[in-house]
Amino acid sequence: MSKPKETVKAFTTRMLALALMTSLLISLGTPLTYLCFAWKAKQAETIALAQQIARETQAIIISNPDAKQHTLLQLNNLASFYQQRPDIKHVKIAANRFTSETLDTPFSPSFFDIIQRVDIFCRGTTQGYIEVTTSTTGIMVSTVILTGIFLGLGLLINTLLYRLPVSIVDENEKKMTVLINKLKTTTEELTKTKHQLEQTTIIDCKTGLYNACQSTKRLEEEIAKISLYGGSLAVLILDIDHFRQYNDHSGHKGGDEAISTIALLIKKLIRTNDLIGRFCGDKFIVILPDVDYNQAISTADRLRSSIAKHRFPEAEFLPSGKLTVSIGGTMYDGSVSLTPQQIFVQAEHALRQAKNSGRNKVVIFQAT
Ligand code: GH3
Ligand code: MG
Repeated sequence: MSKPKETVKAFTTRMLALALMTSLLISLGTPLTYLCFAWKAKQAETIALAQQIARETQAIIISNPDAKQHTLLQLNNLASFYQQRPDIKHVKIAANRFTSETLDTPFSPSFFDIIQRVDIFCRGTTQGYIEVTTSTTGIMVSTVILTGIFLGLGLLINTLLYRLPVSIVDENEKKMTVLINKLKTTTEELTKTKHQLEQTTIIDCKTGLYNACQSTKRLEEEIAKISLYGGSLAVLILDIDHFRQYNDHSGHKGGDEAISTIALLIKKLIRTNDLIGRFCGDKFIVILPDVDYNQAISTADRLRSSIAKHRFPEAEFLPSGKLTVSIGGTMYDGSVSLTPQQIFVQAEHALRQAKNSGRNKVVIFQAT
């Protein structure tokens, strides 16, 4: 089952955000860790150097207890010697006995320098101190290079991830997708069934016309419109003449075909806002909104004559030699409030009159 687009997109976005954060952490974290360790190592190295110089200074002072000038010279040489080392930036030897002749040269350390001071002890007393300054420029440069490399790598991985199709799908997300799709299918099926059910409850399956119940409902709506806006309507009931006989002769199937043909003929002749329904058995109902008595009569007669003109198979044996319908109808204008059932009773009454007057006739009652 394919993964919905939105889920893949959300998952991809999360993955990319995670990858970006991870690479950012690695890119910055690694150089920072390196910087810490390198700084500590440099500090230890500087202390060791200062201690070494202190030991050598002590030896000079002890071996020359009085010879001031000579000692100063030796200490100067010692400082110069160490000063020349590439890893040392500055050396200061401050011995108490030579305070007036300091060995220090003017020097101002920067923020990135490491300064370590070690005391000089001679015969149990402090004789001064050694101060060694080392530079961390090398460490800083390597840290910057390392940051650059890691950031570059992070960006590269992210770009690759962005281009790669996301194929690793979280199991839960997969299950969720399956469930969502199942739910979608079930909902669609339910909607379809609901629609079918609605159709079967309002449509007559043989003719595809509205059934009696739906026809009644529509008539109720038309009655309500008249009570609001006025106007009048006609209700016609069409009944096939001698249909029992036709059935007996042509068979039930032949009768069914005749019913369908009559439904089609009526449909063709009425307006789009008129309504046709199958009332029951061989009866049809036609509701004609916004018509007066004369229009109702002419429509009903048009229906009657067009059915009478149609050549139904094997209809010659019928009493009139053809298949016909009788139409009974009634007008309704809301002057007297009537229910659909009362209107049907009136139309049925008119239909009986049409039948009694010889069939293939139209009788419509005026609105009372
Ligand atoms: P009338 O001129 O007085 O109307 O005579 P009729 O024979 O048509 O009598 P009636 O209307 O009372 O009889 C209706 C007949 O229609 C009875 C039944 O055999 C037939 N019929 C009802 N529904 C169907 C149907 O769905 N299919 C078929 N083939 N026949 C039906
Ligand atoms: Mg009949």
